[in-house]
Amino acid sequence: MDAPSAPTTIDYDRCAMPDPLWGPIDLTHWRDTPCISGRVAVEADVNAGRAVFFLAGTTAKPHPLDLPCCALLARGSGPHQPVIVIQAESTDRGIFAGYRALTGGNGVCDLDELALLPGPDASFERAAPVPSPQRTLQIATPELAHAIRTLLASGVAHNPAERRLAERFQALPVGPDLFREVLLRPDGEVLRVESGVPEERSRNVSDQLRVLVLAAARYPALARFIPERPAGAQLCAFCEGRDEGWCAGCFGLGWVP
Ligand SMILES: [Zn+2]
Repeated sequence: MDAPSAPTTIDYDRCAMPDPLWGPIDLTHWRDTPCISGRVAVEADVNAGRAVFFLAGTTAKPHPLDLPCCALLARGSGPHQPVIVIQAESTDRGIFAGYRALTGGNGVCDLDELALLPGPDASFERAAPVPSPQRTLQIATPELAHAIRTLLASGVAHNPAERRLAERFQALPVGPDLFREVLLRPDGEVLRVESGVPEERSRNVSDQLRVLVLAAARYPALARFIPERPAGAQLCAFCEGRDEGWCAGCFGLGWVP
């Protein structure tokens, strides 16, 4: 955008300064991002990190945007940048928005450079540069589904009972877990089957990971689907990350999702 001319002044120098106020955004707590609402910002708001700019000596009015707000910033031909809008002010030269970038830092743009979103939806997360480990850890993938179907088609059951379960649930027999049989479906669903009671179904990522590690011990073709430890994943509290084989806390991975 063109910088507004006098008497509207945006303090760009202040905006550009690296500052601990403008660190990366924790997406799980994006709603807690400090922002300014219901009034125009003054210098103290910028100093406090709840506004990016202040327009001295103008007739600026607060824009009635519900803040903070997730948005994609379109600028130039590059990919859209996911940002959290923390300020919006109407002036006779347009509506200006102050935002924070997910990776840290801030900026000012015209409101119409932003695609406003109701929250961090799929388009936002696709553009997000640093999603949290929980978001990146994906066990169920098309590649895993293909590998499981290939194994199923090759006839993997150890005995007739397993074969019946595999056919009934279209799922890979993984082995016994206490009194139940554990199976893994191509779509990543974990099944625990015990005769006489309804089967238990789970898509919890920790459970998927646990069962995938178990399954890989029986089907080496699945070992390559065990993910690397994501950045930020915690070390296992039981084995403290030491590679000592089986561990009840981390299933031998050394980390927990
Ligand atoms: Zn462990």
